Amino acid sequence: MDALQITPVGIVHSSYNNPETIPMQSHTATIEILPAYVQGLLRIEAHSHLWILSWFHKARRDLLRTVPGRVNANAPEYGVFGLRAAGRPNPIGLSLVELIKVEKNILHVRGLDAVDGSPVVDIKPYFEHDIIFSPRAPYIMPQDKKIRYRILFKQAYNHHQEECRDLQLALRMAMVAEDEFGKLNSPELIVSVKGSGCLADTIQGLFRARLANPARFAYLESTKSAVNWTNGTKKLAVSLIRTPTREEMLDLDNTDFLKINRH
Ligand SMILES: [Zn+2]
Repeated sequence: MDALQITPVGIVHSSYNNPETIPMQSHTATIEILPAYVQGLLRIEAHSHLWILSWFHKARRDLLRTVPGRVNANAPEYGVFGLRAAGRPNPIGLSLVELIKVEKNILHVRGLDAVDGSPVVDIKPYFEHDIIFSPRAPYIMPQDKKIRYRILFKQAYNHHQEECRDLQLALRMAMVAEDEFGKLNSPELIVSVKGSGCLADTIQGLFRARLANPARFAYLESTKSAVNWTNGTKKLAVSLIRTPTREEMLDLDNTDFLKINRH
């Protein structure tokens, strides 16, 4: 087959130059659309979310199998088509972003995984029917707690769409459950939440726990926050000893504010 020709339609402007240091919180960036393609933005502001296809211009193109080493150096090897790693024959990056605003040929976006200067090769809208709520996927537990937190944060924020206190609490509770059970989206793992709608919503999004097929999720509204997990005979219960604010929670160890019961 002949080589294909791709011309960039835009360029990423971001304060991050190194993919390792793109922060875990929902940082913003801009995409400058090149003059020849500006007409392609007509009515794009009708969308809250977009798929951005970028080009990892610094990535290796000779890889077909690799270990997802940035996530876990002890993970087994995978074919590159089963990974999101940058190195691949055509190093196209795929990011789901929130479109904050459009100013002429500039898109302001949140959540873009691309460094400053990356070429953008295409933009497509994100639709409701793009969601598979509970997909089957291999579980690769990140070795570094910060990367683990970053991945879970992104999942929580994509689902709940606000960085509220109970999103933070759900994240901390989910990390305790991940230590105990491993994969959060496991058909055998049953989740029961007492607390606010925000806590229940974020927990449901993190564990991908549906009400049925299979029934993995139960919720009771309450002023007290507690989550219970069951996997066969193994049980875990996490509740609050005290109620820190979102900012306080960032500096606290689990034992400072969570009551954890395993049996
Ligand atoms: Zn909330």
